[in-house]
Amino acid sequence: MTDSIYFAPLLPWQKTLWTQLTARVLTPVQSLPHALLAAGMQGLGKRAFVWRLVAWLLCREREQHPLGACGSCDSCQWLKSGTHPSLQVLPNVSMPISAASSHSQEALKSANKKTKADSKFSKAADKAALTIKVDDIRALQPFIYQGGQGMRICVLDHAEQMTIAAANALLKTLEEPQAQVHLFLISDTPAKLLPTIKSRVQQLPLQSINTSTALDYVTHTLGSTVNREVVSPTQIEQLLQLANGAPLAAIDLAQAVWYSKRVLWLTTWQALRSGKRSATAASDYWQAQLSIGEFIQLTELMLLDIRRINLGLSSSQKDVDLTAALQNYQPSDSLLESLVSNLQQTRMALQQNVQEKFAYDKLMQQLAQL
Ligand SMILES: [Zn+2]
Repeated sequence: MTDSIYFAPLLPWQKTLWTQLTARVLTPVQSLPHALLAAGMQGLGKRAFVWRLVAWLLCREREQHPLGACGSCDSCQWLKSGTHPSLQVLPNVSMPISAASSHSQEALKSANKKTKADSKFSKAADKAALTIKVDDIRALQPFIYQGGQGMRICVLDHAEQMTIAAANALLKTLEEPQAQVHLFLISDTPAKLLPTIKSRVQQLPLQSINTSTALDYVTHTLGSTVNREVVSPTQIEQLLQLANGAPLAAIDLAQAVWYSKRVLWLTTWQALRSGKRSATAASDYWQAQLSIGEFIQLTELMLLDIRRINLGLSSSQKDVDLTAALQNYQPSDSLLESLVSNLQQTRMALQQNVQEKFAYDKLMQQLAQL
């Protein structure tokens, strides 16, 4: 359990913030704000930062270990066994153990094994399990108001999943700060949080990440998990762009099932174009491989690179030979543009409950004409 997210290395773009916050705690006249919000899109490392800080705040030896919890005192042991008496986490499914493994090889393997039906089911179940109800907030009250010695911490992960009643109950707690009690809210979609909640918590500046720091981190991490040779610097830049600059999300993308099917996409496209494969057969085949959303994401990435080559630039992908594939035939820009806009329309149509099979069939017909 030494790889638990409580004791993981500090992410390089969070060093300054870590130093600032821990210095405040260690300076007797200053202290940490009562309620903190870690907000922003997925893949910035918000959770990694919060769990690490929680472990350090609770650590009995933190003064001797300013860079992170010691990992061996009573408090750190309790965290490892998931039985810390001074930590409450909502919703209950958000215990950090699963978060810690989300970027590991094991997570990758198990994600690959998941069938489409599984992932659909778990998405619906996950959403229900993440809801924070008013009773959950009320159940925190004795813990918050019990008084006594030592720091107590509540973490509300997916804070935007609070019901209105839960948010109102939490507001009361936010208005009555208790000594030694700290609240951490985490949210991937802070726009969904009530403005009254947002105005009573202090937001951690976790969003701005220096591009070269992000590039270095993704390059280094992918270099140690996948074959270093196959990932080009341009490819890493592209992954980061696709992930809107969020380094952990870029790493997830590189390890996503759809990303591993780029060569297959190229083979399908060429077979469709040459008439060796019918659109229906290709559609049936891909429906068993990827969800339509994933296939659209994959197609968008491939089209982006085909456009690069059309412009005379080199392919961003070292491990897929697009340049060779495009030697004899290059689709025109207007064809590419119309397919890109078709992909966007398909995405919207899917939100209106258009059938996956229907959308797949149509996309394959369009690919055959590209
Ligand atoms: Zn410790």
